Amino acid sequence: TITVLGSVNMDLVTTTDTLPAPGETILGATFALTPGGKGANQAIAAARAGAEVEFIGAVGDDTFALELRETLVLNDVGTQYLREVEGPSGVAVISVDRTGENSIIVVAGANATVTDLSADELSAVGQADLLLCQLEVPLETVTAAASHARANGTTVMLNPSPVQPLPPDLLEVIDVLILNSIESAQLGPAVLAAVPHVVTTLGADGATYRGPNGEEVVVRSLPVEAIDTTGAGDAFAGALAVAWEQGPERALTWACAAGAIATTRAGASTSLPTEEQIQAALTL
Ligand code: ADP
Repeated sequence: TITVLGSVNMDLVTTTDTLPAPGETILGATFALTPGGKGANQAIAAARAGAEVEFIGAVGDDTFALELRETLVLNDVGTQYLREVEGPSGVAVISVDRTGENSIIVVAGANATVTDLSADELSAVGQADLLLCQLEVPLETVTAAASHARANGTTVMLNPSPVQPLPPDLLEVIDVLILNSIESAQLGPAVLAAVPHVVTTLGADGATYRGPNGEEVVVRSLPVEAIDTTGAGDAFAGALAVAWEQGPERALTWACAAGAIATTRAGASTSLPTEEQIQAALTL
């Protein structure tokens, strides 16, 4: 099994001709509510890619909470460790203009309350084959989960997004980093060198792997007509986690296919491919 510790948000997405200036009120064209959050998206990506997945995180007590939970359940993500806390669920308020430029405000809400892990949650982490985390829940909690995973032989995979400095006690228990080239540049070579396995995504160019003995794998992406790259990174991370035990070459190939498929569909959680779809894309 894969245990995902991370965020779950409702994305409030408006499209407009141009983004409003400060103090300005404008008319938008469309509005949509879509379940998101990197944690939930990657958990759904892994479940669709064929793994048994448990999610550790929190929703609030507002009207979004029910739909966020239901989205995880409908995608076969285990929610026994999804807490409901007082206050608002996490939200991302997103505006996209006609050129595709966006402005985004994320309010952590319930995600910020995941400050400690229960004995049951720690035990789920310790019993999993792999722990997958991002940085949209408090860093201390990610560090505690990752340390417990390492102590119990669970592989620790981290997508350090949104990028921030990694404390030494987290860095030393990471097995696999998955990052894009911007995050890679921001963390810097010394941090990357401290992690045994580093997977760097390169958008339309695919992804690269660097192993503990300096071995390298380069996987090109599938040629697709990308219409919306939202969710591509999450599709990649979820699929990589599922295929990791098959070795880096196979895992990157599988993850690149998942990422490419996600770019051909609109939205984040709605664009994540199934195991059959990934398999079909690779045998074409
Ligand atoms: P992020 O969205 O996190 O910045 P990337 O843009 O690097 O990450 O995309 C993640 C993965 O999604 C890539 O490694 C690749 O497999 C796939 N992908 C992204 N954009 C494209 C594209 N235009 N064509 C094909 N595959 C893509």
